[in-house]
Amino acid sequence: MNTQISDNLYQRAVNIMPGGVNSPVRAFGAVGRNPLFIEKAKGSKIYDVDGNEYIDYVCSWGPGILGHAHDEVIEEVMKAVSDGLTFGAPTKKEVILTELVSELMPSMEMVRLVSSGTEAVMSAIRTARGYTGRDKIIKFKGCYHGHSDGLLVKAGSAALTTAVPDSAGVPRSYTENTLIAYYNDKDSVRELFEMNKGQIAAIIVEPVAANMGVVLPQEGFLEFLREITLENDALLIFDEVITGFRLGLDGAQGYYHITPDLTTLGKIIGGGMPIGAYGGKKEIMQMVSPVGPVYQAGTLSGNPVATAAGIKTLDILKNNPLFYQELDKKAKRIVAAITERAKLMDKEIKVNQIGSLICSFFTKENVVDYQSAVSSDTKEYAKYFNEMLEKGIYLAPAQFEAMFVSVAHSDQDIRKTCEAILSTTIDK
Ligand SMILES: *Cc1c(COP(=O)(O)O)cnc(C)c1O
Repeated sequence: MNTQISDNLYQRAVNIMPGGVNSPVRAFGAVGRNPLFIEKAKGSKIYDVDGNEYIDYVCSWGPGILGHAHDEVIEEVMKAVSDGLTFGAPTKKEVILTELVSELMPSMEMVRLVSSGTEAVMSAIRTARGYTGRDKIIKFKGCYHGHSDGLLVKAGSAALTTAVPDSAGVPRSYTENTLIAYYNDKDSVRELFEMNKGQIAAIIVEPVAANMGVVLPQEGFLEFLREITLENDALLIFDEVITGFRLGLDGAQGYYHITPDLTTLGKIIGGGMPIGAYGGKKEIMQMVSPVGPVYQAGTLSGNPVATAAGIKTLDILKNNPLFYQELDKKAKRIVAAITERAKLMDKEIKVNQIGSLICSFFTKENVVDYQSAVSSDTKEYAKYFNEMLEKGIYLAPAQFEAMFVSVAHSDQDIRKTCEAILSTTIDK
């Protein structure tokens, strides 16, 4: 594999951008090599600047459910571009997209468009606080909700107390109102409600956690979160930035039949362009300015080019509901190959999969939360990643990320991927 042009670009990049990247997940530090610089992508394939071709399972970390540069999406984007890039005034496309989102996810009676998932979550939490008049929120260890100050937290030294910043530059006072519970652990949530009676505005959760690898909610966990929030007059926020339109047209809330009070979206909703959205019950969303007292704004919010890509992407998904079963089938073929490989090894691999989200953990433990996720042997993952890359399969360059299957992955792509998995070196 020749990566000389990528390597040269990387040398320039590290001098001008921190780590040579504009988002840390793009760095290849965890797998011990320089990142590849991408020139173009089409369908299931991604091409680096040295002309290497890969079957891509990162899919831009989630947006690419239709694969790259889908013809119909590109056509809509081109049309939108020629009509003007931004107006700072309302457009018909914003109405169409928000109506479409609300139709697909009925819990989102009212929707506000923003420009990223981070912004959506930050704004949803502000809205929940404004609505309830309370300051504290509960988040789960290992769930990621973007990089806003109050959510970059880790558990304090005494577990189940106030969180402390997990990033330099975040004042302690900004995380004082964030409480940490453990995913799939009802008692940890109960305890926080008991210790903070009448003070919790909301629980925010990834209904399927997909930022500590892929971790599924155990039976009854999401139902429990719905119940305990109702009992305590707190709101339930589903962060569906990854799961929205990925587990199905109605996201994880449709998959598990739970109605959250607020939902945040990102990634797929922009079809590859920058959009985020938050929404929920009308009564709650009417807290948002200019109707209500919760301030939130954005120069490029509901951008006409981004909404064009989003509308087309959601339209295609809506008109092809069978896509979701096909994605699940493809993912299960990959899981079978990983499991087959695991059988040939002494080391165990645990694979978590739901629909088009897959993660293989190099561990004996069933992965049900952050603690069990980090029991995975990351060196083993790095080795696997590098071997797969050499075979033309582009996986996430870190263990704790999902493998994303797209509609564009063909039978042949999946077959090639399974063959690659089975031909990786097996250490006994
Ligand atoms: C990616 C992600 C975010 C942040 O979205 P950005 O568009 O990267 O700001 C928030 N929540 C979840 C669950 C995500 O996966």
